[in-house]
Amino acid sequence: MAKYKIYPIRLGMQEARDKSGGTYLQNSGVKVPSAIMGFVIAGEGRHIMVDVGCGPAQWSIEKHNFHLTEWYPLPEALEKAGFSVKDIDAVVLTHLHHDHCWNLADIPNVPAYVQKEEVLFALDPLPYQWYYYEVAQVGMTPRWYAEMYRFKYVEGDYEIFDGIKLIKFCGHTAGSQGVLVDTESGRILIAGDTVNLYDNWEGKGVWKHIPNTIHINVEDMYKDFEKIEALNCTHILPGHDIRVLDHKVYPVE
Ligand SMILES: [Zn+2]
Repeated sequence: MAKYKIYPIRLGMQEARDKSGGTYLQNSGVKVPSAIMGFVIAGEGRHIMVDVGCGPAQWSIEKHNFHLTEWYPLPEALEKAGFSVKDIDAVVLTHLHHDHCWNLADIPNVPAYVQKEEVLFALDPLPYQWYYYEVAQVGMTPRWYAEMYRFKYVEGDYEIFDGIKLIKFCGHTAGSQGVLVDTESGRILIAGDTVNLYDNWEGKGVWKHIPNTIHINVEDMYKDFEKIEALNCTHILPGHDIRVLDHKVYPVE
C-alpha cells in the first residue's frame, strides 16, 4: 500500500485578527495570526502540491484588505522546504479563493485538480465572496482563468493516485475538497478551509465542532464535519492554523 509524508509549506502570514472570524462568533477578543500555507505530499516517487497561496503583500492589502506580515514567492518557499517547482507532478486546489490558488502559474503545465462544482460556483459566488474569488462582478479577473487548460475536473470523491483521495465538501464553498493521504500513521486529511483552525475541529464545551464563519451554508458545514468523522483520520490539517507549521513533516517524526 502506498505511503506518503506531508510537508506544510509556509507561504505567508496574515496579521493577528479576531478569532471569532474563524470560529463562528466564539473566542471574541482573542487574536490569532492566519497562516497562508500549501502542502507537499511526497512518496511513491511523486510530489503533489496542495494549494498555492495568495498574492504578494501589496496586492493583498489593496484588493483584500489582507495585511500580510510575511509573504514568500512559491518557488522560494518550496526551496526552503527542500523541494523545487520541477519536483511537482500535480497540483490540487482545495477551493478557488484567492489565498489558495493565486500562484498556480508558478507551477506551470502540470495537471491541477479542482472540483467542477467549485469552478461553476466561482463564476457566480455569493456577493460577500466576490472578492475572495476575484470575480468580474468587482472588476477583477481570476488568475486561474489562464491556467484552465490544465484543470482536471473532479465531481465528488475521487482517488487521484494510490493512497491520495480527494474528498468533496460543500459548506465553506460549493465545491471545496480535502485531500485524504495514506501515511505510516494512518490517514491524514488536508482539510482546506472546511476546517480553518484546529479549534473548528476540536470544538468547545458542548460543541463537538465549530463551523468556520466563512460558509455558504452552515448546515452543510455540519454535514462536512460528519463526513470527516466517517473518514477515521489520525490527524486533520486545518487550512490556516499557525500551529500546523510547528512541524516540518506529518506524520510528526
Ligand atoms: Zn483560506
